[in-house]
Amino acid sequence: MVQAPKNVPLLDINRDNRPHRDEFIEALTEVVDSGRFLFGPDVVELEKEVAAHSQADHGIGCASGSDALLLALMALGIGPGDEVIVPSFTFFASVSCVTRLGATPIFADIRPDTFNIDTRHMESLITERTRAIIPVHLFGQCAEIDRICQVAGQHDVPVIEDAAQAIGAAYHSRPAGSWGLVGCFSFYPTKNLGGMGDGGMMTSCDSEMADRLRLFAGHGMRPRYYHQVVGINSRLDTFQAAVLRVKLRHLGDAVEKRTAIANRYKELLSDQQLVGPDELTLPYVDPHAFHVWNQFSIRVAGGQRDALRAHLADQGVGSEIYYPVPMHQQECFEFLGVDGSTLPETERAAAEILNLPVFPGLTEAEQCRVVDSIASFYQQQSARIAA
Ligand SMILES: *Cc1c(COP(=O)(O)O)cnc(C)c1O
Repeated sequence: MVQAPKNVPLLDINRDNRPHRDEFIEALTEVVDSGRFLFGPDVVELEKEVAAHSQADHGIGCASGSDALLLALMALGIGPGDEVIVPSFTFFASVSCVTRLGATPIFADIRPDTFNIDTRHMESLITERTRAIIPVHLFGQCAEIDRICQVAGQHDVPVIEDAAQAIGAAYHSRPAGSWGLVGCFSFYPTKNLGGMGDGGMMTSCDSEMADRLRLFAGHGMRPRYYHQVVGINSRLDTFQAAVLRVKLRHLGDAVEKRTAIANRYKELLSDQQLVGPDELTLPYVDPHAFHVWNQFSIRVAGGQRDALRAHLADQGVGSEIYYPVPMHQQECFEFLGVDGSTLPETERAAAEILNLPVFPGLTEAEQCRVVDSIASFYQQQSARIAA
């Protein structure tokens, strides 16, 4: 009897963590025994290690990637009347940090090839009220960050990099998080450096800014019980830092595996006996970018995306849509009254994008199943048309 093939998950965190179990237990036992659950030595070491990994001078731990973005804007003193340029095709946290402070997000469109912010459109949106630009390094690939920093610099506007999905990514060999005034990282479990809970980190090469970020993350308190500014409580705990230090040791290896998986998808999906080039668009890698493949994102043409996704689900193949509703169309941002006609590529991406399984432990056999399931969808389509 032929064994039914197992389902292919979008992500299997246990599979990726299992080989390091003994290292986790050892590191966590040390934290338990130390009793230093906040501000433990692992936090200080992880801050140094992430800063070094990102070629930044300073690393400041915080409670999440969302807080990292919020703290960056708080430290810049951004508030009502200020404008912050950000893509609409991103995760919510890239934008909520702006509105939470009473400032106004100004949405830039994206490039159709990389899904990252369109630098020209971004430039056209700069006004005398622009107080920051937040490019997002989406899916693990840097935006055109050299050009973005150059344009922003000409207008004296600071750049805050949303590098939540892009730890270890680089542009012109220089890592994400070292270009802007602040780099914001997330350790949410699905990110390339994922913890066992929430966590985040800010990087900066500006000592004064790094100091302000730390002040704002610690209730604005300095010295103890004397509050200079109204900060928040946002800490990375020692348990997370201990886990993340183990994972950081294996991050290079994990990225190599992600890259091999991405290359195999590209090879398998570009076999035109299976799927025609008009039906799927494979991810484009900017020649200056080092992509770390947090996501493998294809475009599905002809309004077929949702049908393909349903077919994959029937076949037991996981997939996801990042992101189905751009930020300017979210209910909570209706009050901004943004007209989507200036964001055509954002709206097209939201309608066409499909994210396939990619995680270090994904096997070649599983990848072949993903590709076969995609191919069988198009075979059914052409059979239906022929009939
Ligand atoms: C995950 C993510 C965040 C937020 O990080 P959290 O740690 O979940 O708060 C911000 N921006 C982007 C682009 C993300 O993918």
